[in-house]
Amino acid sequence: MATTINKQRLLTHLFGTAKNSVELDGDTRPVLEQFIYGVCRENATREQADEAYRFLCEKFFDWNEIRVSSLRELEEAFDGMSDAELRSQRLIAFLQEVFEVQFSFDLDKLQKDGLKQAAKKLARYQAANDYVVSWAVQRSLGGHAIPVDPPTLRCARRLGLVENEQEDAEARASLEHLIPKAKGALFTDGISTIAGEYCWEEHPQCSSCPLAEECAYAQENGVEALVSSRAHRTKPR
Ligand code: SF4
Repeated sequence: MATTINKQRLLTHLFGTAKNSVELDGDTRPVLEQFIYGVCRENATREQADEAYRFLCEKFFDWNEIRVSSLRELEEAFDGMSDAELRSQRLIAFLQEVFEVQFSFDLDKLQKDGLKQAAKKLARYQAANDYVVSWAVQRSLGGHAIPVDPPTLRCARRLGLVENEQEDAEARASLEHLIPKAKGALFTDGISTIAGEYCWEEHPQCSSCPLAEECAYAQENGVEALVSSRAHRTKPR
């Protein structure tokens, strides 16, 4: 487990890496759209989520058309992603529930309820889970929340940012304590990029990972020496 100072150094490095690769261009989406994007984003890379969300926006006329579409039609949006059927079911169930209560597809009035109340109301939707509510809180409700999905948790554990024994909720609380609110979105996208490009479940690519020199897993597994020799290797003349 990394010390507090090491964790801060690691986070500074992660934020620096993330800044180079992440554009937080979707942060202006309204609450309903962020909830839907969260369903796409959980356990997926940013590219996969962007593609799925784009498919939904371009292939269907509006959210109502998605609400009345078949699972099969929706599954195409999540082609190649995990849990395509479950994501489709959640999306239809969410839009149905919103429609039955609001008769429209707009949840922005939640902004007036205050953060706690708004998060509580979002969590009541059948399609909601910790990740999606945290995503909406972070991206559209102006609160401090870190969405934690399996790739985030795997990478955070290996880096030593959270303990191996910590379950999702506890890990999320630790990360929320460690990461300033202003850096929440940067952390979320940065760690997701590292998880998608290097920190695979099997055979993590530590020798190419930009965080290897500060990573607990890489150090324990002797990757530090490899990385250091890579850094000091001189070009053959
Ligand atoms: S160094 Fe290896 S274990 Fe650590 S974050 Fe990078 S890929 Fe994952």
